Formats: sequence, C-alpha cells, structure tokens
Amino acid sequence: MSDVVVIGAGLAGLVAALRLARAGKSVTLTTKGPGGLHLSQGTVDILGYTPERVSAPLDAVASVPAGHPYASIGAEAVGSAVSWLAEEFGPELLTGDPARNFQFPTAVGALRPTALAQPSMVAGDAVGGKSYAVVGVRQLKDFPADLIAGNLARSKAPDGGALSAHSAWIDLPARKGEADPTPLTYARAMDDQSFAATFAKAVGAVAGKADVVALPAVLGSKRRDVWRQVADQLGRDICEIPLPPPSVPGIRLYDALLAMVRAAGVRFIQGSRIVSFTPGGDGVASVTLAAAGGPRHLKAASFVFAPGGFESGALDVDSFGTITEPVFGLPLTATDAGPLIPSDYWGPHALFEVGVRTDDAGRPIDAAGAVVHTNLFVAGGIIAGCERWREKSGDGIAVATAVRAADHITGGAR
Ligand SMILES: Cc1cc2nc3c(=O)[nH]c(=O)nc-3n(C[C@H](O)[C@H](O)[C@H](O)COP(=O)(O)OP(=O)(O)OC[C@H]3O[C@@H](n4cnc5c(N)ncnc54)[C@H](O)[C@@H]3O)c2cc1C
Repeated sequence: MSDVVVIGAGLAGLVAALRLARAGKSVTLTTKGPGGLHLSQGTVDILGYTPERVSAPLDAVASVPAGHPYASIGAEAVGSAVSWLAEEFGPELLTGDPARNFQFPTAVGALRPTALAQPSMVAGDAVGGKSYAVVGVRQLKDFPADLIAGNLARSKAPDGGALSAHSAWIDLPARKGEADPTPLTYARAMDDQSFAATFAKAVGAVAGKADVVALPAVLGSKRRDVWRQVADQLGRDICEIPLPPPSVPGIRLYDALLAMVRAAGVRFIQGSRIVSFTPGGDGVASVTLAAAGGPRHLKAASFVFAPGGFESGALDVDSFGTITEPVFGLPLTATDAGPLIPSDYWGPHALFEVGVRTDDAGRPIDAAGAVVHTNLFVAGGIIAGCERWREKSGDGIAVATAVRAADHITGGAR
C-alpha cells in the first residue's frame, strides 16, 4: 500500500507524483498511456487567450471568471506552482517568466503565446524588426519553411513592429533509405555530434542573413546541448519551432519528468487502465486496475485522479449526448446549455468545458457543493470550466491543480 495513488501520467499526474514524492510520500503512479505531453509544444502555457492574446498571463489569471479552474487557485499560487516546476526541470530544459508570455512562431508561421519554453526556442520570441531565416529539411515533412516564412513576414509582433522572414532548404537524410522520417528520426540522429555538425554546416550554407535562424524542433532527443552546438557553429541565434506530433520538445519534457519521478522513488505502473473503485468510510479505499492477469486493487490513504479530458478517454459520451465519468462516476457539470459540438468550428464547444467541479482543495463536489469523496483529489484536464486548448491554459491548469492536490495531501497547502 502507498500513501497516495496517482492515476494518469500526463503533465498533471507526473507533477502530482513528483511533488508528493518530494514531500516524502510513498506514491504509486498508474496510467494506461503516456498522456498529452508527446503531442504538446514542449512549452508550459499558463494563459494565452482570454479570448484576446495575452502578454501578461498571471495578470490575466487574476481576472478569470468564477467557475474557471484558475479562479479558486489564484494567480500567486499558479505562478509559484509553475516556477517550482521550472526549477525542477532546470534552465537547460525550461526557462521564462510566468508573468510574461513569449510569442513564438508556429509550424504554420502564426505567433503563439506561451509562458515557459525550452532555451532552444527563446530567440524566436517575436519583437518588432526581427528577421528570421526559416530553414527546412527536404526529407522532413510537416515543416513547410516557405509557408512559415511567408506568414511570419505578414505578421506584426505584439509590440506592433513588423517582422521579416525568408525561407531556405537543405537536403540531408537522417538515415539512409528511410522514406518517411519523423521528427524523432532526426532528433535521434542529432544526438550524434558529427551529424549535428553536418546539419549546421548545411544550414549555414543556405541561411543567408537574418537575426535568427528558425529550424524544425529536432535538435536532439537525449543530448540537451545540440541547439547550442548548432548556434555556435552558425555564429547566430537560432530558434526551434515545434512540429506536429510526435513532438520532440514534448517528449523531452515527458522523459525528463518521468526520470525525476522514478528517481524520486515513485512506483510506476504503465499500460493498464483504472476501471473502478471500492469505497471506504467517506472516501475511496482502493482503485481497481484492469491488469492482464486479472484485476488488481491499489489501496492508499489518498488518491489523485488526473485522467485528462475527452481527448484521453477520461469522459464517455453516448449517442444521446449523455456524458459520464466512468471510473468514480463523478458528478459532472451540466451539458444541456446547447449542442456539445456546434457546427461553428471556431466557436465555443461546450463539450470541452464539461468536467468535474471541485472545492478549493481540488476535491470533487456535487451540484449542491458537497465533497464526494474526502480523500480523492482531481487535477488537470478533468476539471470543468474552460476550453483549455482554445485558451492555451491546459498546461498551467495541470501544473497548478496537481500542486494544489499534492499540497493538500501533504498538509503543505497554504
Ligand atoms: C487538441 C488539443 C490541443 C490542446 N492544446 C493545448 C495547448 O496548446 N496548450 C495548453 O495549455 N493545453 C492544450 N490542450 C489541453 C491539454 O489537455 C493540457 O495542456 C494538458 O495536456 C492536460 O494534461 P493532463 O495531465 O490533465 O491530461 P493528459 O495529458 O491527457 O493525461 C491524462 C493521462 O491519464 C491517463 N488515463 C486516462 N484515463 C485513465 C484511466 N482510467 N486509468 C489510467 N490512466 C488513465 C492517460 O493515459 C494519460 O496518461 C489541448 C488539448 C487538446 C484536446
């Protein structure tokens, strides 16, 4: 038996497990899969849109409406949770200021706000007058250098100044004979110093003049200093632009967090789903893992439920539009306000706001505000009240609610 069982190994579950283990708790982390970090940009978004583009995320957090997951946490606690995580990662993996958003070019040349980023991305921050040389690799799909440069050159930096950009291409297979290499193929090749040197030489030959050389985010999988090697060889600032999944920067964060979690002594069970629970007293006594050899019951004094949202299978919706949470049967926010997925793609989608409401400690509550299980805490995407992907708030919510849950369990909550 552990002190705490954490369910889900996305950003929320990993952060909760790490925070609990750091506070001396024995923790079992159990998950059916690796979560959303592999799909993410490898940054930590706190709040990007309200719907206006946000430049000071903690100021914007302080003014979210009641019912938003941030409302019961507060800007100060959000800032300190995110700063704690940045310290855990260290500046070679995560840097920035939770009070200020970077504005980075995306893989289609739009500008995207985020609070914490990998140091290999920082030079991409859009400031008026900056010029970019966007260099693509012919063999690597999903990095359309011409489109990125064209859109960047049409964009204004948040300070109102113009940006300029041009594109260039190199030919450099990562592995002989591989027809459809992924970003990971390149990132692994870059872990070899001599391949990274060949890459930098080829980029240097075509990049021309620009303040920053923008490159696909494939500069190393295990080796953290590939971007520095390339920048030093070019004698120029460079920035990595994240690609569609599999996301190398996202995998870097996942690998680092999981390594920290394991090193902190957390027991990690992967590949099986928690399917139900056994009540005990006024809370949860155990959760049931659907393991290959038959069900296993994981007992603990406390539980953190961090299963993500619809995208992770945390919620079920049937053909009548009825939404349920299948593990604990937790009460969900109402869904009868309108169509769950309206035909307007860019409009609000009620489906993604549905979730669990919590008290200030992060425990699920019912419609009357009563706590459902006294020793069950929820964290991350399962929490109701906002469209995380639209606001670019899902990472900050995951981190802040995971820290809140862990601190209430350890008695460290303020
Ligand atoms: C299309 C899309 C784009 C997004 N873009 C952004 C963005 O740009 N910025 C942003 O901040 N947020 C974005 N989000 C929100 C994103 O969900 C959060 O940022 C964050 O990844 C949520 O982390 P999490 O740990 O709560 O959930 P997840 O990362 O989804 O992890 C959930 C974990 O729980 C596990 N799990 C689920 N059910 C069970 C079970 N029964 N038993 C065991 N394990 C289980 C899963 O396998 C997984 O490991 C986006 C979401 C979507 C859907």
